[in-house]
Amino acid sequence: MTSVVAPRIVVAVDGPASSGKSSVGLAVAQRLGLRFLDTGLIYRALTALALREGVAPEDEPALTALIPRFELADDGQGRLARVLVDGEDATGAVRTHEVDLSVSAVARQPGVRAALLGLQRRLADAGGIVMAGRDIGTVVLPDADLKVYLDASVEERAMRRIRERGLDPQGEQADAVREQLRARDAVDSGREVAPLRAAEDAVVVATDGMGFEEVVDLVAGLATAVAASRRADTGPREAASPSPAAPPEQAAEAGRAAAREPAANVRPAATAKAAGPEKRHRVLEVAMRLDNHQSMLVRMVARLAQWLGLAFADVRHEGLDRVPRTGPVILAINHASNFDPVFAGAWVSDALRTRRIHWLGKRELFFWPVFGWVCALGGVHPVDRSTADVEAYRLATRILEKGYVLLIFPEGTRSPTGALQEAKDGMAQLALRTGAQVLPIGVNDSDLVWPKGRRLPSPFPRRRVLVRIGEPFRVADLVPPGADRRAAKAAVTTAVMGRIAELLEPRQRGVYASVVRGASVGTASPKVG
Ligand code: C5P
Repeated sequence: MTSVVAPRIVVAVDGPASSGKSSVGLAVAQRLGLRFLDTGLIYRALTALALREGVAPEDEPALTALIPRFELADDGQGRLARVLVDGEDATGAVRTHEVDLSVSAVARQPGVRAALLGLQRRLADAGGIVMAGRDIGTVVLPDADLKVYLDASVEERAMRRIRERGLDPQGEQADAVREQLRARDAVDSGREVAPLRAAEDAVVVATDGMGFEEVVDLVAGLATAVAASRRADTGPREAASPSPAAPPEQAAEAGRAAAREPAANVRPAATAKAAGPEKRHRVLEVAMRLDNHQSMLVRMVARLAQWLGLAFADVRHEGLDRVPRTGPVILAINHASNFDPVFAGAWVSDALRTRRIHWLGKRELFFWPVFGWVCALGGVHPVDRSTADVEAYRLATRILEKGYVLLIFPEGTRSPTGALQEAKDGMAQLALRTGAQVLPIGVNDSDLVWPKGRRLPSPFPRRRVLVRIGEPFRVADLVPPGADRRAAKAAVTTAVMGRIAELLEPRQRGVYASVVRGASVGTASPKVG
């Protein structure tokens, strides 16, 4: 099947039972020409087989031993919706009341989940798939291009089931449906391994009061928007090969749906509390993706930033070859000017080659018309300032745990004098926790081009800005023996700032002047690159 939006986009749709994951997921997949898998089917197939074989839902080893006996097959319409047990079609046996009653107990067994993980991932390997379940965005496909979490109240979900089955909403059977949904929610959300929850970077859609088509339009629109930015990211190769099967009116409608105001139903999970009327979900959604690829757009933005920097100063760099090409890295930079991200980031970005720099930025940046998109596509991630410390820390940890590159100004704000100010210890905490390497960077004299307090930069008189890049190092060795956590953070903060100070001229070493080790590099003649 050919994809309408992007040949290999992967969409994760999670949510509680009867939240519409499978019907919405399937409709979106069909509209966009993607494959579809409802992973609940896998747990159901295993449960049905266990019931048939008399295996108890708690008997983890026996359950795991049953897994090789079933497989999923295409139903001829792009859905992996047929279940074969010992090679024979057993699809009819997986949606029974008995399976409903036991499936969550089977699915909570850690060994079962572990054994099924590889199977699910393999099915998504080739891309071009919408996968629905409980833990797709959080565990199975943490790098999915788009993660959607469909939510609805138990009442609303039960009513959908009740209507579907033609039951009397006041009757006993309807009560049983409500009860069973509550029980399944409790087991699915309360289990230890891969509990039901929205991924931090998922778009949460509260579907209460929304029509089916409305939800499908919304999700298809999001997928189209993400695919479009992915196509822009991957450049001419994919952009030059649009799907021949793309019905333009469908794609256009999906785009319109994405652009339509989704009101209060939609919120990025990570900023859920502060979402309010959410007009900007598209740019935020892109900004929350943790993509490590340096796209053409990022490269273009970096190049433009270099030109901008060179228009205002004679920018030189020393030590760009020290930028690590692999593993988690914290770029720790002094902050004396609004131009620091340009003078340092634009060139370091080049030195990283295929890896991109991740930055944290206040959420409001993304609401600026063009600049917001540039930030989102350039790897800046939104932080809600009302919860800034916790949220930023969590996000930064994830970036480093994924092995990516994070740029931090340890001082937090620009220095009013251009000299180093007391740094916060968040950077030290991150480095200690994640084991990331720290790359100290000293930006010299950026404050002379654009000091804090001046509205605009000035190219006159023309200044030389020298960006010195130090040796990367790990902070674990800097912790004094026997230090408690607080002392360890303080020691690491001071040591890292000392290394940044060594890369700065004496004028800018500020409160860390006394920590500089041995001979000053400030007096050495720089190898300028
Ligand atoms: O989605 P459905 O209701 O068919 O899923 C049946 C059960 O399978 C769920 O209640 C849940 O216990 C389990 N499941 C899971 N992880 C998934 C999909 C389903 O634990 N990714």
